[in-house]
Amino acid sequence: MKKIAIIGGGIIGLTLANYLDTTKFDVTLFDEGIGQATGASAGIISPWLSKRRNKKWYQLAKDGAAFFPKLVQDLSLDASVYSKCGTILLREQNSLLALAELAEERKKEAPEIGDIRLLTADETASYLPLLKPAPSLYVSGGGRLNGRSYLAHATKQALAKGVKIIHEKAQVDADNEQWQIQSASHQITVDAVALTSGPFVKPLLEHLNYTVDIRPQKGQLLAFDTTYQTSQEWPVAMLDGEADLIPFMNGQILIGATHENDGGWDLTPTQAAFDQLVEGTRDFLANPEALISQPASFFVGTRAYTSDFAPFFGPLEQTNLVVASGLGSSGLTTGPYIGYLLATYFNEGTWQADCYQKPIETYVQKNAEN
Ligand SMILES: Cc1cc2nc3c(=O)[nH]c(=O)nc-3n(C[C@H](O)[C@H](O)[C@H](O)COP(=O)(O)OP(=O)(O)OC[C@H]3O[C@@H](n4cnc5c(N)ncnc54)[C@H](O)[C@@H]3O)c2cc1C
Repeated sequence: MKKIAIIGGGIIGLTLANYLDTTKFDVTLFDEGIGQATGASAGIISPWLSKRRNKKWYQLAKDGAAFFPKLVQDLSLDASVYSKCGTILLREQNSLLALAELAEERKKEAPEIGDIRLLTADETASYLPLLKPAPSLYVSGGGRLNGRSYLAHATKQALAKGVKIIHEKAQVDADNEQWQIQSASHQITVDAVALTSGPFVKPLLEHLNYTVDIRPQKGQLLAFDTTYQTSQEWPVAMLDGEADLIPFMNGQILIGATHENDGGWDLTPTQAAFDQLVEGTRDFLANPEALISQPASFFVGTRAYTSDFAPFFGPLEQTNLVVASGLGSSGLTTGPYIGYLLATYFNEGTWQADCYQKPIETYVQKNAEN
């Protein structure tokens, strides 16, 4: 039986672990858990109205969102993990019409966008009572994924399939046609390795003599524990500006997230982020003080970005070395699908995902041997 090691147990690594054929492969996943983006994420799955012009990225994000019904079924995800709750977009009145037209246009190739409705001010507040009445656009296909619950659930499922999970930092070294994986208390030799370690693919690949175009970006968000009884029935609100409002089960309301390029690898929660997120939300709320006075905690994680903000994933020139990183702010949307595509590569031996990205050498190059 061939052995595969996965380095990094965020949304890509754990989805990959779940889709690998464990009757064919002996799978070990290493996850340090530090800096993880998936555990700190906001949870918005609603890529269709993005202003990004990168067509390959949009194709990936659209197909990533369309993949969710299969993911829900294959991994038996319940509403505490994923819910198709709908998305409300708040914009200036004159932008809403153009946005609705864009939504109708995109729906032709993405029927999963669902119903598209311009809401009156009162309808907006009745859909999501935390919001001040204001006109908005509603799309019923938007979803929310609880990154923390997904990790817990996918870990349980992977263990049940026989995947070994080791909560330690791993180092990878080439060993002829194989790979040596070393952590604090384990050393194993494997036939193939998948680096799904977010921005930490950089040191791992540099150690293997590659140059990598990736940088870390700090993201912080606020989680308020409230006594709202029906929060799980509310849609996600994408506000005009950087902050979004994501209602979860049991009254948990997230406000996120910051994008701090100069924060790099730092994981310290800051008062400046609290103030920025609260100020970015205040004008949209019916009663800001009622929410902001609730007990709050921070989620802080490190996103991975490339120079052109596009992800890269797939086999490198050594076909038994697979890498996936650079998912940026949309990795909950694209990550499960990327994990599935990587698993298909191992299970079936074919790679058919180049349509979603520039050649992987754009981001990862092997250095000349000295
Ligand atoms: C605040 C915030 C909000 C976000 N909101 C959204 C959103 O609403 N919608 C959306 O689509 N996306 C969102 N994202 C983006 C999304 O969360 C990420 O793009 C995605 O989770 C990245 O997943 P990943 O599996 O590539 O990496 P990660 O989740 O970062 O996982 C990588 C794992 O590898 C581990 N690791 C690293 N090095 C090693 C090593 N040497 N050995 C062992 N383990 C190692 C790390 O500890 C980590 O656990 C958000 C991100 C942040 C930070």
